Amino acid sequence: MGRTLSKNKELVRIVPLGGVEEIGINCTVYETKDDLILVDLGLGFSEFDYYGIDYVVPDLSYVIRKVDKLRGIIFTHGHLDHIGGLQYFLEKLNFPKVYGSEFTLELIKVKLEDEHLLGPMLEKFTVVDENSSLVLGDFKVEFFRVNHSIPQSLGLYIRTDSTSIVHTGDFKFDNSPVNEPVGDYAKLAKIGEEGVDILLSDSTNSLKKGHPISESDVARGIEDVVERARGRVIIATFAGLVGRLYQIFETARKYHRKVAVAGYSMYQTLGIAQKIGYIKIQSDMIISIQDVKKYSPSKILVLTTGAQGEPEAGLSKMAFSDYKGFSISKNDTVIISAKTIAGNDRSVQLMIDKLMSLGAIVKQSEDLDLYTSGHGYQEDQKIMINLVKPKYFMPIHGYQYFLRAHGETAKSVGIPEGKIIIAKKGSVVEGNRYKGFRISKVFNCEPLMVSGSGVGDVLAPVLKEREQLASYGVVVVDLVINKERELLKDPFVFSKGFVFVKNNTSIIDTAQQIVQKTFIEKAKTIKDINELREVISQELAKYLYQETEREPVIITIINFI
Ligand SMILES: [Zn+2]
Ligand SMILES: [Zn+2]
Repeated sequence: MGRTLSKNKELVRIVPLGGVEEIGINCTVYETKDDLILVDLGLGFSEFDYYGIDYVVPDLSYVIRKVDKLRGIIFTHGHLDHIGGLQYFLEKLNFPKVYGSEFTLELIKVKLEDEHLLGPMLEKFTVVDENSSLVLGDFKVEFFRVNHSIPQSLGLYIRTDSTSIVHTGDFKFDNSPVNEPVGDYAKLAKIGEEGVDILLSDSTNSLKKGHPISESDVARGIEDVVERARGRVIIATFAGLVGRLYQIFETARKYHRKVAVAGYSMYQTLGIAQKIGYIKIQSDMIISIQDVKKYSPSKILVLTTGAQGEPEAGLSKMAFSDYKGFSISKNDTVIISAKTIAGNDRSVQLMIDKLMSLGAIVKQSEDLDLYTSGHGYQEDQKIMINLVKPKYFMPIHGYQYFLRAHGETAKSVGIPEGKIIIAKKGSVVEGNRYKGFRISKVFNCEPLMVSGSGVGDVLAPVLKEREQLASYGVVVVDLVINKERELLKDPFVFSKGFVFVKNNTSIIDTAQQIVQKTFIEKAKTIKDINELREVISQELAKYLYQETEREPVIITIINFI
């Protein structure tokens, strides 16, 4: 009885560890005194100008400290910004239980398998769907279907004895989706009737008015282009836009084109989509890219990655005539079914120019109905708020600017300003049905950088060095000395990737003299060899900067003979 009473009044903590000051690294903690669950554990693509940083992942220290009360991780859907961080934390999180739809979990398994991490996790997966109900410690979790751009996306209805929460995940309301049911308005309305204390909702497109066009409009847009194409059709999109892949296969089937798939991630996703029965592909429908030339051009559709002009991806390689066994030719129609992400405009434009110069007809999503977003616009966001009718509103998934815009939208449909919570990474949002919600404190929670297989081991000095190397190259000083610390020959100075603005040899000569002079002056007084190396490097750096205004990485090697 006592337990029930105290649970009844208990404060619930909501802590975003990512996804509130950026697009990506979505990860939210829900916590009571005894229990903790995590919703999503995604990665972000590094937007930093850092060298060799592949991804960023959330800082999970907060959860790792409390790992004994972690009851599981629930994944809303299978996009990398929601699932991609898991593989880096399995051990630190004691190989947690994970929950998600069949498609989501299959994508996670494939990722873990690729990294040889699946073994200890095999027993940890539980498939859920919109009818499931989980009890994870104090948390009761139910699900509702949403439309997005990947199958089996789910929103969450999370309850404790003291609080009721809706967490949308990524969503839009598409009234004519392709190959999936319409999002569950009725269930959301019912949840709203039960009384929701706080709504956490997707802000990705909160700056956009209206609704995105429907997936069925895009299906028609793509079909129109394929129908009119005389030669081969090449379609570039993201492997994660699984709904789009389905539309493309349907179109290929209708127009009797064989499909050649170029791109590992695309293959992988298609394999899973087939496994769960989302896409049905007859074995004679897929051909290898090398076999394309055996068919008449009007019988071919090539599906590839690289819609952002990424140099290593399929379409770019084709554009720059660098794709083994396949080249673009006159009368090919290229469809780019993706939004150009800000910052990639130039590489996409260059790629399109190249494709056109090879004789291809290029159709980009901007011209025609060839792409739509998986995230709702302002009108979708209003529908969500109107159905759920929350007392408090907390926008998530987006930059602070996006969250604020979403807050304005919430205000326009009646959420009072004082009940809109704009959180940062590490904001501890605390409250319950009786007390309402507020940010009780904020702790430091900067994302960790992933470089190769290392997480968080790349620190600022290393990044500085990489930046220096890339910008200015390296200058190496080689000294040979004896035990008495006498130079046995002239210092040798050479460089890689360092650009001399003035006469090259005179700078090198002077550099050698400076090294020699510094060594002779300091070798007797500075006993520590590392310090001596450091002083020589610094003197040389000073000189090179004076002469060239450049800061190469300087490596001084002292050899004892
Ligand atoms: Zn998504
Ligand atoms: Zn997302």
